Amino acid sequence: MHHSLHTLAFDNRYAQLTGDFYTQVPPTPLPDPYLISYSPAAADLLELHPDTFDQPDTLQILAGNQTLPGMQPLAMRYAGHQFGHYVPQLGDGRAILLGETRAAGQHWAWHLKGAGMTPYSRHADGRAVLRSSIREYLASEAMAGLGIPTTRALSLVGSPQSVQREQSETAATVLRLAPSFIRFGSFEIFYYQQQPQHLQTLADHVIQHHHPTLTTQPQPYLALLQHTIQRTADLIAAWQLVGFAHGVLNTDNMSILGLTLDYGPYGFLDQYDPNHICNHTDQTGRYAFNAQPDIGLWNLYCLAQALLPLLHPEPNTATEQAQAALQTYQPRLQHRYATGMQHKLGLSTQQADDTTLVADLLTLLHTQQADYTAFFRQLSYLTSAQMQDVDTPVHRLCREPEACTAWLTRYRQRLQTEHSEDTHRQTRMQQHNPKYILRNYLAQQAIDAAEQGDYNLINRLLTVLTDPYAEHLAEDTLADLPPAWASGIIVSCSS
Ligand code: AMP
Ligand code: MG
Repeated sequence: MHHSLHTLAFDNRYAQLTGDFYTQVPPTPLPDPYLISYSPAAADLLELHPDTFDQPDTLQILAGNQTLPGMQPLAMRYAGHQFGHYVPQLGDGRAILLGETRAAGQHWAWHLKGAGMTPYSRHADGRAVLRSSIREYLASEAMAGLGIPTTRALSLVGSPQSVQREQSETAATVLRLAPSFIRFGSFEIFYYQQQPQHLQTLADHVIQHHHPTLTTQPQPYLALLQHTIQRTADLIAAWQLVGFAHGVLNTDNMSILGLTLDYGPYGFLDQYDPNHICNHTDQTGRYAFNAQPDIGLWNLYCLAQALLPLLHPEPNTATEQAQAALQTYQPRLQHRYATGMQHKLGLSTQQADDTTLVADLLTLLHTQQADYTAFFRQLSYLTSAQMQDVDTPVHRLCREPEACTAWLTRYRQRLQTEHSEDTHRQTRMQQHNPKYILRNYLAQQAIDAAEQGDYNLINRLLTVLTDPYAEHLAEDTLADLPPAWASGIIVSCSS
């Protein structure tokens, strides 16, 4: 079944909630829009016909200049904890939920970022600049390619409209897709405003539309909390395994469905540095790479607190139940991480010493300033015989190549304990260790070219990043280590 935009049926579930949950607001037209890129993989989710993007009215819709019959544009209302402090009202300040469609049995909410001012724009302009839109567009599709839960990006549209940030830039829109854009902060707002009815309505909405099996649980709201705890643990374990730092893990950027949401000053690690801070404005490192597992739990405490009135009429019991649920987070995350590392290392069994093997590898990578992604990928190419060499591509990723040798010997011995077979192991490892990730310098090169009107690199990156475990030999250079200038790239929240 192939749709055009005009044959898609809208079924706007969030819009069926009352005005307490959003404000209706149309997108603001964007002058002289041009289509920069669309994601064929995201278009497939909607079962869109490939011709769709050749039609002139498609561009007008993706720019926010026209709406389709059945759309009910609105800005979602939410609050959130930003850098540890509660902010009573945030909301979609520059994104508009256009509507929700169903395709292949799945609902997709269409969220147009950069679509103009809303009642929640505060003192800002409701726009997104080209630079940050490229970063969100590519990262969304790259995460999906890695197999990590995320909101998706259908299209990237530019405009000559000028937008003032530190310097003058131009505007863009990204059409994001997700089953829902509801955040932890969507619940917090009603807890702090002491509106338990709205809290319950929202929880019922999420359960009914996103976790219908939970309705049969004895305590559906507790089950919702437990479910979100598990999905968040799984998500953050996946980030740690791939070396992704979100940058702004405020509770308004935490998806109730456990999706990676709101790509701002994020970064994928180059050299392995557990203390890496990707957001220039995060001076204390609250959202540093290795802080993410704990911050995930901190954010879940905020969510649990907001859900307390729904959990049990007796406050002490509600608190005890929430605490018991929260206690499952760390073991779950650790288990997911250990299993993920087992796959990255191509081990088919789990053994007692594996935790130390992994910890020592991470220490080695850190002290040797080795590139995280490249190290694992190169390791996947080594045969066990080559692990006895003193100079391999793996060694060359370390500042002092000889520092690698001892760990490689241990690894080789570990593989022997399970009679590991090289080709089989190598194939499996290559399915768990991406060759291509969205390094900051690649995103920056794509941005610099796009600002000169050349979108070729965006589309080349999209192709390798949506299938990052394959070789794509003709695009080998996109797997290159960062050039020296890359360490000077600064990413901040202002986008
Ligand atoms: P973020 O850090 O991008 O998740 O944004 C935090 C809050 O600020 C959200 O409520 C955004 O909608 C709002 N916001 C960020 N940038 C803009 C902008 N340019 N115009 C209006 N609101 C914005
Ligand atoms: Mg946000």
